[in-house]
Amino acid sequence: MMWYKETVDQAMQTLQTTQDGLGQEERTKRLAKHGYNQIEVKKKVHPLRKFFKHFTDLLMIILLIAALLKFFTGDVIEGSIILAVVVVNSFVGYWQERKAEESLNGLKEMMGQEAVIFTEGIKELVEAKELIIGDIIALKAGDVVPADIRLIEVHDFMVEEAALTGESEAIEKTSATIKKTVATGDQVNMAFSGTLVQTGSAIGVVVETANSTEIGKINQALQTVEQQTTPLVRKIHQLNKQIFRGIIFLSLFLIFFTTFRYGLELNFLFSTIIALIVSMIPEGLPAVLTMILSLGVNEMAKEQAIIKGLPSVETLGSMTVICSDKTGTLTKNEMSVVETLTDEKEKMIAIMKNCQEAQTKADQRVAALNGNPTELALLRYAENAEVSLEKLHGKLPFSSSYKYMATMHEHQDGKVIYVKGAPEVLLAKADLTAEKLKEWQEKAKALAQKGQRVLGFAYKVVPNEQPLTHEALEQLTFVGIAGIIDPPKESAIKAVKECQTAGISVKMITGDHKDTAKAIAEQIGLKHTTTVLEGIDLDQLSAEELAVKVQTVDVFARTTPEHKLRIVEALQKNEEIVGMTGDGVNDAPALKRADVGIAMGIKGSEVSKQAADMVLGDDNFHTIAKAVKEGRRILDNLQKTINFFLPTALAQGLIIIWALLANQPLPLTPVQILWVNMVTTITLSYALGFEQAGKDTMTRPPRDPKQGILTRYNVFRIFYVSLLIMIPAYFLAMRFEGQALQQTMLLQNIVGAQALYMINCRELVDASLNKRMLKNKALFISLGILFILQAAVVYLPFMQHLIGTTSLSLQQQLPILLNIIMLFIIVEVEKVVSKKMIKMRE
Ligand code: ADP
Ligand code: MG
Repeated sequence: MMWYKETVDQAMQTLQTTQDGLGQEERTKRLAKHGYNQIEVKKKVHPLRKFFKHFTDLLMIILLIAALLKFFTGDVIEGSIILAVVVVNSFVGYWQERKAEESLNGLKEMMGQEAVIFTEGIKELVEAKELIIGDIIALKAGDVVPADIRLIEVHDFMVEEAALTGESEAIEKTSATIKKTVATGDQVNMAFSGTLVQTGSAIGVVVETANSTEIGKINQALQTVEQQTTPLVRKIHQLNKQIFRGIIFLSLFLIFFTTFRYGLELNFLFSTIIALIVSMIPEGLPAVLTMILSLGVNEMAKEQAIIKGLPSVETLGSMTVICSDKTGTLTKNEMSVVETLTDEKEKMIAIMKNCQEAQTKADQRVAALNGNPTELALLRYAENAEVSLEKLHGKLPFSSSYKYMATMHEHQDGKVIYVKGAPEVLLAKADLTAEKLKEWQEKAKALAQKGQRVLGFAYKVVPNEQPLTHEALEQLTFVGIAGIIDPPKESAIKAVKECQTAGISVKMITGDHKDTAKAIAEQIGLKHTTTVLEGIDLDQLSAEELAVKVQTVDVFARTTPEHKLRIVEALQKNEEIVGMTGDGVNDAPALKRADVGIAMGIKGSEVSKQAADMVLGDDNFHTIAKAVKEGRRILDNLQKTINFFLPTALAQGLIIIWALLANQPLPLTPVQILWVNMVTTITLSYALGFEQAGKDTMTRPPRDPKQGILTRYNVFRIFYVSLLIMIPAYFLAMRFEGQALQQTMLLQNIVGAQALYMINCRELVDASLNKRMLKNKALFISLGILFILQAAVVYLPFMQHLIGTTSLSLQQQLPILLNIIMLFIIVEVEKVVSKKMIKMRE
């Protein structure tokens, strides 16, 4: 259909709808008939394919070939074990990937969009996916157009259609019918699904939904949650590759060295090298880390912080500055008018009642309305006054950029324009004597100093033909001011303190007056409140000057969204990791630029949500603090997991290398080494991902994002722990007679040591045996399963035959226990000493 060629009436007739919108019953019927307004993207990978994808890793291929060769040479047990390693690894990888995917898909659901429609004349909020053709929809600045719309009524309505046409310049829309056939980009009486409303407002009728929309036809998902890898996971991948290369090199060397020096048998060598590769490469590590990250994303979502990509989790953990909006994020957004100053009370009430967007019908109760909280406060104040709703002839919607709103209505001498907005903006446009002007300015200041948001009210009678434009707003008659209180949230006050303790500075950016801002900043407990930087002063500063200034200013007032971008850039110049909140359409650039862009889930515009990295489900600053804490917890758990993985891998490898170099019989058979590797992968590898936050999580400074995954301390840890696992185990085993017994003791000792060392890794620097340990169920489950598997391999005859083990008596188990307890104690002591040393150095 070429909807743009039809008049509005024709279109509405075709769609069998009216200006008042469809009734609920009809809507349900149509929804059942046409289905949801959702674009279906076809690409779906089959689970089996995802499973087999894990076989295509280079390492996996090497192992598969090895398994095949083993089967050929009749070595069925070893072949099977190698195969089992591959299958287990793929399965674990697949399972972890699915977990990650599930949590991201869940998030997609949570990010569902909403739309304002008219049902029988009343504005109502519905989910965008429930839109149906014939719905009458209201669009405003910041919306992402949820379906294809034929416009009925526009007010200063500009739409950016880059998603569809690639053109990033916003286009002015009209409602007039177009006669000629034109391309999508020129259909100016249409608003297309997926495009962004930059300014103004409009009403239109939904003409196409889902796959029939223009964007649906080119089959593009509007909202994608990407599963990217994070810098840290990428580094681990790189590390793995390096280890892999190193091991290939080492293997070649070992093969040459041993064949020429000792003339070792090739089949034996082959098995050994395979075991070496499997044990030394932490092949499961990237998948484990990704799973920890995505589980964390899930946890955050439960706490109302919806993360759109895994990298943000890492960035959150190292955030150093949070720039927050005031209204609704730090304050309750429960506004109420507490003071009015005016000589023309009736006129002021009339402006409150009419210059607004929330109420459309005279008989609506204010309590039942939703809309801009400032306007609702004014409407509530004016509710019981005997003032009627006048017919609307034009509207300039409120914008944080110009800070006022205007409407036009009928009047006996032509038309009347009502204006409300920031007092100083209206006063500048008012027709007042210098004396009167000063008087109003002082009154407004007095209210602002009490922390009130102050609004001014003015009007102007104009001739009938005068259109409502920004230029028409001059020589206004100023009628008075109103003070609105909006108290800070208790939870935000606490969260600000928490962030400050965690070494994160909190800054407040608001469009409100500087005195209001300052009063609220003090109540909230920001650090530097003596100087407040205003938007106009900020404009005078160069980027360099601003970078210096932002270090000592925590309050920014009378700003426009454009200032936010400059503030983010200035902070980033100082190497800060910046979190920035925003809700309006113009906040999008700042949100994109910030390291973590944070949008408001409730009051935020759709555009800001799309630009953000994180969406707050409850618009509460407190939730940011919780997300930071969660981010830090996850980063810690990643580090703990790495600390656990690497020494254990090295320990297993060292023993083989030593044996080959010294021409000693292998202390463990390749089958046994593969077995150890497999059971620890199944059980121990991910338990640390479920660790609770440590007690110092929010009392220490942010992690330096430049810090690599392997600090010097980590390297030290890897080496001494791997030696400490292997050497005592080896010497203990050698005190006993018989190969099977020696090998079983060694195997038991290595597995036990890994289990206890995992508990060591629970805390990075603190003592590991604490109450929080009981909260990590995964830890106990994994230890339990490991215990069962290990008991099976030592005591079940079938397993003994397969793996080449033998039963251990109590006298043999006890010294092993002593060995691993000793390891545990040494690591705990080392942590205490290291912590002291680090403290001393600081
Ligand atoms: P904030 O950043 O605190 O949300 P805003 O940009 O929303 O600030 O508001 C800035 C100023 O604009 C307010 O101090 C008030 O004077 C004025 N204002 C706020 N809301 C409206 C509105 N709906 N209509 C007219 N003026 C408004
Ligand atoms: Mg606001």
